[in-house]
Amino acid sequence: MTRVLVIGGGIAGFCAALAARRDGADVTVVARAPGATALYAGGMEVIDDLDAVLASQPHHPFTRLGLDSVRLATELDNAIQALKLALDKDGLKFEGSWRTRGIYADIHGLARPANLVPASVAPGELRALSGRRVALVGIKEVGDYDAASTARALKELHGIEAFPEEVSIPELPLAASLTDLYGRRAPQPRARSATVAYPPGFTSLPSDSFELLASPPSPHGWRLQQAISLGSVTAEVTSFETSTGRIVSARSGDRTFRADAFVLASGLHIGGGLNGGRLTTEPLLKLGVFHEGTSVREIGTRLQHLQYLDPAEELRSGLSTDKGLHPLDEDGNVPYANLFAAGAVLGGYEYAGPCGFGVPILTGWLAGTWAARVNRLTSR
Ligand SMILES: Cc1cc2nc3c(=O)[nH]c(=O)nc-3n(C[C@H](O)[C@H](O)[C@H](O)COP(=O)(O)OP(=O)(O)OC[C@H]3O[C@@H](n4cnc5c(N)ncnc54)[C@H](O)[C@@H]3O)c2cc1C
Repeated sequence: MTRVLVIGGGIAGFCAALAARRDGADVTVVARAPGATALYAGGMEVIDDLDAVLASQPHHPFTRLGLDSVRLATELDNAIQALKLALDKDGLKFEGSWRTRGIYADIHGLARPANLVPASVAPGELRALSGRRVALVGIKEVGDYDAASTARALKELHGIEAFPEEVSIPELPLAASLTDLYGRRAPQPRARSATVAYPPGFTSLPSDSFELLASPPSPHGWRLQQAISLGSVTAEVTSFETSTGRIVSARSGDRTFRADAFVLASGLHIGGGLNGGRLTTEPLLKLGVFHEGTSVREIGTRLQHLQYLDPAEELRSGLSTDKGLHPLDEDGNVPYANLFAAGAVLGGYEYAGPCGFGVPILTGWLAGTWAARVNRLTSR
C-alpha cells in the first residue's frame, strides 16, 4: 500500500488526504496548528468563471495543470462531492456547488459571494430574501456586534426589509463579545412572520433562520477546522531526508514520518508555508517562490514597488508547479519526483479572491490522487 504523508491541516491537506485514501493509500496528516482555513468567513469561493481563468491567467494553478475545462469541471465535481460527503459525516452540512454562486451578508451587512456555504448560512442568500422581513438578532450584552447597524446596512445596500430585535442572555459576562456566543443554544426572538438572522456561533437554530458570515475569529472557520482536524497528528515538520531526487522521510523533533509520497499543503503566511520579509521564501525545502512566472529573487525591487501600490500583490507569490503538481526549484526544475504541492502555498492567483477555497480544494484533491499513485506513475 502506498504511504502518503500530507503536511498541513487546512482545507488543502484535508482534500489531499480524502483523495489519497479514496485511491487506497495509507495516509498520515501532520499539522502544527490551525491555519487560514480556521479563519474563513463562512462562504467557500471555489471559482467564478473557469474558462476566463484558463484563457487569461497563465500562472493560475488551474491553468498550470494543463487540463481542459471539461476535465477540470469533472475533477471539481468529484472533489466537491467527496468534500461535502466527508464534512456531512463529521456533522457539517454544506450546500451549493462550484457551478452556482450566491451572495451572503456578513455581520456588518456587507455582501460576499460564495459557491458553497454551511446549511446554517444557506437560507440567508440575499436574492432569496428579497421581499421578506428579516429580524436581526442582537444580543444586549455583546459589545462587538450591533444588529441595528447591520439591519440598516442590509436595507440601504441590499434593499432588504431588515429590523433589529434585541434579546438578553443574562449569563454572559459583562462586556461580552461575539466569541462568547460560540456553542450556545440560539435564543428565540419574539418577531413572528419574519426570517431570523443570527450572528454566527449559536447552535440549534429554529426553522426559517440563518447565520450571518463572520469576520475573524470565525465560528464557521472554527467548526470547519475542528471537523477536518479529526485524526490528524499535531507535529511541526522541520526537515526532510532526501535521496537522489526523492524525499524519503519528514522529521519533527525526534519523530520520523516515512512515506512513498509527500503532499506539501502548508498554506501561505498564516499557515506558515511561506516566510515573508524582504524576499518571500519557502522554509522547509527551499523551493522556488515565483511571482507571475518569475522567481521572486529575479524580480527584486519591482515586486516591492507593486506591493507598495497594492499590498495584496505579494499574496500572489508562491510555489509554482509542473502539470503534475510537483513544485519547482528556483531554476524551474522538479527537484523531487514524489513531492506534490497544494493549496495556498501555490502562487499565481488571488488568495482572497474568487478561488480562495477553489485552489486548495482542487489542487489538494489532485495532489492526493497523484501522490497515492506515485509508485504507478512515472511522470504526468
Ligand atoms: C482572514 C481570512 C478570511 C478568509 N475568508 C475566506 C472566505 O470567506 N472564503 C474563501 O473562499 N476564502 C477565504 N480565505 C482564504 C482561504 O481561507 C485560504 O485560501 C484557505 O483556507 C487555505 O487553505 P490551505 O489548506 O491551503 O492553508 P491553511 O488553512 O493555512 O493550512 C496550512 C496548514 O499547514 C500547516 N503547516 C504549515 N507548515 C507546517 C509545518 N512545517 N509542519 C506541519 N504543519 C505545517 C499549518 O499549521 C496549517 O495546518 C480567507 C483567508 C483569510 C486569511
